[in-house]
Amino acid sequence: MNLVQSPARPCVGLAETVIDLSVVRDNVKTLSKRIRPGTEIMAIVKADGFNHGAAQIATAAIEAGATWLGVARAEEALQLRAAGLTEPIMIWLYDASELLLLKDIDVSVSTVAELQQIASAPNVHNVHLKLDTGMHRGGSAPDQWIELTRTAAHYEALGTLRIRGIWSHLSHGDEPDASHSTRQLQLLRTGVALARRAGLTPDFVHLANSSGALTLDAPDCNMVRIGAGLFGIDEVDAGLRQPMQFVTKVVQVRRIRAGEGVSYGHDFIAERDTTVALIPIGYADGVPRIAGAQASVLVRGVRLPVVGRITMDQFVVDAGDLPIEVGTPVIVFGNGDAGEPTAADWADWAGTIPHEIYCGLGTRVPRRYVEGTQR
Ligand SMILES: *Cc1c(COP(=O)(O)O)cnc(C)c1O
Repeated sequence: MNLVQSPARPCVGLAETVIDLSVVRDNVKTLSKRIRPGTEIMAIVKADGFNHGAAQIATAAIEAGATWLGVARAEEALQLRAAGLTEPIMIWLYDASELLLLKDIDVSVSTVAELQQIASAPNVHNVHLKLDTGMHRGGSAPDQWIELTRTAAHYEALGTLRIRGIWSHLSHGDEPDASHSTRQLQLLRTGVALARRAGLTPDFVHLANSSGALTLDAPDCNMVRIGAGLFGIDEVDAGLRQPMQFVTKVVQVRRIRAGEGVSYGHDFIAERDTTVALIPIGYADGVPRIAGAQASVLVRGVRLPVVGRITMDQFVVDAGDLPIEVGTPVIVFGNGDAGEPTAADWADWAGTIPHEIYCGLGTRVPRRYVEGTQR
């Protein structure tokens, strides 16, 4: 795979996300050191790698030791294959009509009906049976599990599918109190024992997401599924870092007088004469409109508040008497090292979580990949 290597420049074009792949590799290595030796890492690169670029993030994660890839949907898995990634991939949401396309993609199965569909599909499929251990968002109901595992063993004996994994998902992985997770692990352990009794021999048992991998010791499991952690969304303070910086530049500067208003509806009225700067990104690019009243961006080392409503394509900041000009670089968010806001700050301002800030980035914001200090 060809990763784009560009020279260090503050911002190419009007706006871009700059993604440091060495940080992704470091995050994988940090996580590896914190989990039981021998535990495999499935890098979860759903939603285009939380909008960091699924193929590039997957490649970096694999270079750092991940051995599996996970995405939600069939189309996402096919895109990884098209990008040349050959590692095993698991998906957990698909339609029966997509099974024909899914050669070499492992699928999650929660019901006997799904298992029957897969058994009758032409390609042999590797299956991960999913047990609901308490999340109650998909997975086999515990009282259906014996039937599911027996049916699976039947199909396996016929050679129509192979049960490669048994898995579940934590509902409270990011909580310091591990009692929920521990209970879920116990239920998974029972589920695996029942599956073995039915004759299944899964290669993989997996439960934890990023935060769960860091907080739950799960000797029953030999794989963890790491999404947020790749991107430095660090719910348990494990020293993970954000690889993405969202940068743009000033496109217009003007003075306004005390009493003059800015943007639709004049929600902001200047209290004094001031300089305002136009920033050429808006909610279509992923800048949450609702964050406007609290948000700020970093310009020349100074946090400048957003004033007036964030619109689809642009917003305005109050530069006070800071000397700025057309082309002055603006950091919307990054890892916070230079004093810029983080995605978590934007999430606070917008009443959401950083995952949604990343997922909300607009498709018209180009990505540039860098290594280490190249940004
Ligand atoms: C998103 C997701 C993950 C990754 O969780 P993080 O908290 O992002 O690490 C793991 N498993 C499943 C099923 C998911 O949907």
